[in-house]
Amino acid sequence: MRIAVISDIHSNLPALEKILSHIKSIHVDRIYCTGDIVGYGPFPNECIELIKEHCHGVVMGNHDAGLIGKAELTAFNKLGRKALEWTMKEIKEENLTYLSGLPLMIAEKDITFVHSTPANPEKWNYVISLDDAREAFQAFTTSFCFIGHTHIPSVISEDFSLHKVVRGKRFLINTGSVGQPRDGNPGAAFGFIDTDKWYYELKRIEYDVNTMINAIENSGLPQLLSRRLINGV
Ligand code: ZN
Repeated sequence: MRIAVISDIHSNLPALEKILSHIKSIHVDRIYCTGDIVGYGPFPNECIELIKEHCHGVVMGNHDAGLIGKAELTAFNKLGRKALEWTMKEIKEENLTYLSGLPLMIAEKDITFVHSTPANPEKWNYVISLDDAREAFQAFTTSFCFIGHTHIPSVISEDFSLHKVVRGKRFLINTGSVGQPRDGNPGAAFGFIDTDKWYYELKRIEYDVNTMINAIENSGLPQLLSRRLINGV
Protein backbone atom coordinates (compact mmCIF):
# COMPACT_ATOMS: atom_id res chain seq x y z
CA MET A 1 0.00 0.00 0.00
CA ARG A 2 1.24 3.48 -0.91
CA ILE A 3 0.70 5.89 1.96
CA ALA A 4 1.44 9.60 2.47
CA VAL A 5 1.84 10.88 6.03
CA ILE A 6 1.51 14.56 6.77
CA SER A 7 1.99 16.35 10.08
CA ASP A 8 2.10 19.75 11.76
CA ILE A 9 0.22 21.73 9.14
CA HIS A 10 -0.30 24.62 11.55
CA SER A 11 -2.92 26.46 9.50
CA ASN A 12 -0.54 26.93 6.56
CA LEU A 13 -2.95 26.65 3.63
CA PRO A 14 -0.50 27.40 0.77
CA ALA A 15 1.81 24.61 2.00
CA LEU A 16 -1.04 22.14 2.55
CA GLU A 17 -2.57 22.77 -0.88
CA LYS A 18 0.80 22.30 -2.57
CA ILE A 19 1.52 19.08 -0.65
CA LEU A 20 -1.92 17.64 -1.40
CA SER A 21 -1.59 18.34 -5.11
CA HIS A 22 1.84 16.68 -5.13
CA ILE A 23 0.47 13.67 -3.22
CA LYS A 24 -2.29 13.40 -5.84
CA SER A 25 0.34 13.29 -8.60
CA ILE A 26 2.19 10.35 -7.00
CA HIS A 27 -1.01 8.27 -6.63
CA VAL A 28 -1.19 7.09 -3.04
CA ASP A 29 -3.84 4.76 -1.62
CA ARG A 30 -4.22 6.61 1.67
CA ILE A 31 -3.22 9.81 3.42
CA TYR A 32 -2.80 9.99 7.20
CA CYS A 33 -2.28 13.10 9.34
CA THR A 34 -0.39 12.98 12.63
CA GLY A 35 -1.87 16.14 14.08
CA ASP A 36 -1.40 19.85 14.73
CA ILE A 37 -3.68 20.95 11.92
CA VAL A 38 -4.07 24.33 13.64
CA GLY A 39 -1.93 26.85 15.53
CA TYR A 40 0.58 29.48 14.34
CA GLY A 41 -1.03 30.23 10.95
CA PRO A 42 -4.07 32.15 9.68
CA PHE A 43 -6.04 29.40 7.88
CA PRO A 44 -7.37 27.00 10.56
CA ASN A 45 -10.80 26.40 9.03
CA GLU A 46 -9.54 25.89 5.48
CA CYS A 47 -6.86 23.44 6.66
CA ILE A 48 -9.26 21.40 8.82
CA GLU A 49 -11.71 21.17 5.92
CA LEU A 50 -9.00 19.90 3.52
CA ILE A 51 -7.73 17.37 6.07
CA LYS A 52 -11.30 16.15 6.64
CA GLU A 53 -11.79 15.74 2.90
CA HIS A 54 -8.50 14.00 2.04
CA CYS A 55 -7.25 12.01 5.03
CA HIS A 56 -8.20 8.43 5.89
CA GLY A 57 -6.94 8.74 9.44
CA VAL A 58 -6.14 11.77 11.61
CA VAL A 59 -4.86 11.99 15.18
CA MET A 60 -4.94 14.95 17.55
CA GLY A 61 -1.91 17.22 18.07
CA ASN A 62 -1.21 19.36 21.13
CA HIS A 63 -2.27 22.57 19.34
CA ASP A 64 -5.54 20.90 18.29
CA ALA A 65 -5.95 19.81 21.93
CA GLY A 66 -5.19 23.34 23.17
CA LEU A 67 -7.92 24.76 20.96
CA ILE A 68 -10.60 22.44 22.37
CA GLY A 69 -9.47 22.82 25.99
CA LYS A 70 -7.79 19.41 26.27
CA ALA A 71 -4.31 20.89 26.75
CA GLU A 72 -3.51 23.81 29.09
CA LEU A 73 -2.67 27.04 27.23
CA THR A 74 0.02 27.67 29.84
CA ALA A 75 1.88 24.64 28.45
CA PHE A 76 2.52 26.54 25.18
CA ASN A 77 5.21 29.11 24.53
CA LYS A 78 4.09 32.72 24.13
CA LEU A 79 3.81 32.59 20.33
CA GLY A 80 1.91 29.33 20.38
CA ARG A 81 -0.47 30.61 23.04
CA LYS A 82 -1.15 33.89 21.24
CA ALA A 83 -1.82 32.04 17.99
CA LEU A 84 -4.24 29.67 19.73
CA GLU A 85 -6.09 32.61 21.29
CA TRP A 86 -6.34 34.15 17.80
CA THR A 87 -7.56 30.82 16.39
CA MET A 88 -10.25 30.49 19.07
CA LYS A 89 -11.89 33.64 17.71
CA GLU A 90 -11.76 32.41 14.09
CA ILE A 91 -12.62 28.73 14.33
CA LYS A 92 -16.01 27.48 13.14
CA GLU A 93 -18.09 25.46 15.60
CA GLU A 94 -18.26 22.44 13.27
CA ASN A 95 -14.47 22.38 12.98
CA LEU A 96 -14.08 22.49 16.77
CA THR A 97 -16.44 19.51 16.93
CA TYR A 98 -14.30 17.71 14.36
CA LEU A 99 -11.10 18.31 16.36
CA SER A 100 -12.84 17.17 19.55
CA GLY A 101 -13.55 13.79 17.98
CA LEU A 102 -9.96 13.03 16.97
CA PRO A 103 -8.20 10.11 18.71
CA LEU A 104 -4.72 10.46 20.23
CA MET A 105 -3.41 7.38 18.46
CA ILE A 106 -4.48 4.97 15.73
CA ALA A 107 -2.95 1.74 14.41
CA GLU A 108 -3.80 0.48 10.94
CA LYS A 109 -2.02 -1.58 8.26
CA ASP A 110 0.90 -2.39 10.61
CA ILE A 111 1.47 1.33 11.25
CA THR A 112 0.85 3.38 14.40
CA PHE A 113 0.10 7.08 14.01
CA VAL A 114 0.47 9.48 16.95
CA HIS A 115 1.45 13.13 17.28
CA SER A 116 4.01 13.23 20.10
CA THR A 117 5.03 9.72 21.18
CA PRO A 118 3.14 6.45 21.65
CA ALA A 119 4.38 6.43 25.27
CA ASN A 120 1.69 8.41 27.17
CA PRO A 121 0.68 10.50 24.13
CA GLU A 122 -1.58 12.74 26.25
CA LYS A 123 1.51 14.19 27.97
CA TRP A 124 2.81 15.63 24.66
CA ASN A 125 6.44 14.73 25.39
CA TYR A 126 8.99 15.11 22.60
CA VAL A 127 11.09 12.28 21.17
CA ILE A 128 14.51 13.94 21.21
CA SER A 129 16.92 11.56 22.94
CA LEU A 130 17.66 7.88 22.46
CA ASP A 131 15.95 7.25 25.82
CA ASP A 132 12.80 8.93 24.46
CA ALA A 133 12.98 6.73 21.36
CA ARG A 134 13.56 3.57 23.45
CA GLU A 135 10.48 4.38 25.52
CA ALA A 136 8.48 5.02 22.34
CA PHE A 137 9.45 1.66 20.79
CA GLN A 138 8.17 -0.10 23.91
CA ALA A 139 4.78 1.53 23.49
CA PHE A 140 3.81 0.26 20.01
CA THR A 141 3.73 -3.18 18.41
CA THR A 142 3.42 -2.37 14.69
CA SER A 143 6.40 -2.34 12.29
CA PHE A 144 6.17 1.42 11.85
CA CYS A 145 5.21 4.32 14.08
CA PHE A 146 4.80 7.76 12.53
CA ILE A 147 5.11 10.81 14.75
CA GLY A 148 5.39 14.60 14.39
CA HIS A 149 5.57 17.31 17.10
CA THR A 150 9.27 18.30 16.84
CA HIS A 151 8.93 19.49 13.20
CA ILE A 152 12.27 17.80 12.54
CA PRO A 153 12.29 14.78 10.23
CA SER A 154 14.00 11.55 11.29
CA VAL A 155 14.03 7.80 10.75
CA ILE A 156 15.31 5.46 13.44
CA SER A 157 15.33 1.67 13.73
CA GLU A 158 14.58 -0.13 16.99
CA ASP A 159 18.24 -1.10 17.48
CA PHE A 160 19.29 2.49 16.58
CA SER A 161 21.58 1.13 13.84
CA LEU A 162 19.69 2.44 10.82
CA HIS A 163 18.31 5.71 9.52
CA LYS A 164 16.86 4.08 6.42
CA VAL A 165 13.89 1.75 6.23
CA VAL A 166 14.75 -1.88 5.43
CA ARG A 167 12.51 -4.93 5.47
CA GLY A 168 11.96 -6.74 8.75
CA LYS A 169 12.99 -4.11 11.31
CA ARG A 170 10.77 -1.73 13.29
CA PHE A 171 10.95 2.00 12.73
CA LEU A 172 10.01 5.25 14.41
CA ILE A 173 9.60 7.91 11.73
CA ASN A 174 9.09 11.65 12.09
CA THR A 175 7.87 13.20 8.83
CA GLY A 176 8.73 16.79 9.78
CA SER A 177 6.25 19.61 9.29
CA VAL A 178 4.07 20.67 6.38
CA GLY A 179 3.47 24.19 7.61
CA GLN A 180 6.34 25.19 9.87
CA PRO A 181 9.57 23.25 9.19
CA ARG A 182 12.27 23.77 11.82
CA ASP A 183 15.21 21.90 10.35
CA GLY A 184 16.60 24.79 8.32
CA ASN A 185 14.85 23.71 5.12
CA PRO A 186 11.80 25.89 4.33
CA GLY A 187 10.23 23.28 2.02
CA ALA A 188 7.00 21.69 3.22
CA ALA A 189 7.74 18.13 4.38
CA PHE A 190 5.79 14.89 4.21
CA GLY A 191 6.53 11.18 4.34
CA PHE A 192 5.83 8.60 1.64
CA ILE A 193 5.87 4.90 2.44
CA ASP A 194 5.25 1.86 0.23
CA THR A 195 4.51 -0.87 2.76
CA ASP A 196 4.77 -3.69 0.17
CA LYS A 197 8.28 -2.65 -0.83
CA TRP A 198 9.33 -1.41 2.62
CA TYR A 199 10.37 1.81 0.92
CA TYR A 200 10.24 5.13 2.77
CA GLU A 201 11.15 8.59 1.54
CA LEU A 202 10.91 12.04 3.10
CA LYS A 203 9.71 14.51 0.49
CA ARG A 204 10.27 18.28 0.48
CA ILE A 205 8.09 20.52 -1.65
CA GLU A 206 8.61 24.21 -2.27
CA TYR A 207 5.48 26.30 -1.85
CA ASP A 208 4.57 29.98 -2.03
CA VAL A 209 6.07 31.12 1.29
CA ASN A 210 5.45 34.80 0.46
CA THR A 211 1.67 34.31 0.22
CA MET A 212 1.74 32.74 3.68
CA ILE A 213 3.96 35.50 5.09
CA ASN A 214 1.63 38.20 3.75
CA ALA A 215 -1.40 36.38 5.16
CA ILE A 216 0.20 36.18 8.63
CA GLU A 217 1.24 39.84 8.50
CA ASN A 218 -2.32 40.91 7.59
CA SER A 219 -4.02 38.66 10.14
CA GLY A 220 -3.07 40.18 13.47
CA LEU A 221 -1.04 37.09 14.42
CA PRO A 222 2.40 37.72 15.98
CA GLN A 223 4.79 38.89 13.23
CA LEU A 224 7.54 36.58 14.50
CA LEU A 225 5.50 33.72 13.05
CA SER A 226 5.92 34.90 9.48
CA ARG A 227 9.65 35.46 8.85
CA ARG A 228 10.72 32.14 10.37
CA LEU A 229 9.07 30.39 7.42
CA ILE A 230 11.66 31.83 5.00
CA ASN A 231 14.48 29.94 6.67
CA GLY A 232 12.53 26.98 8.01
CA VAL A 233 13.38 27.57 11.67
ZN1 ZN B 1 3.49 21.23 15.74
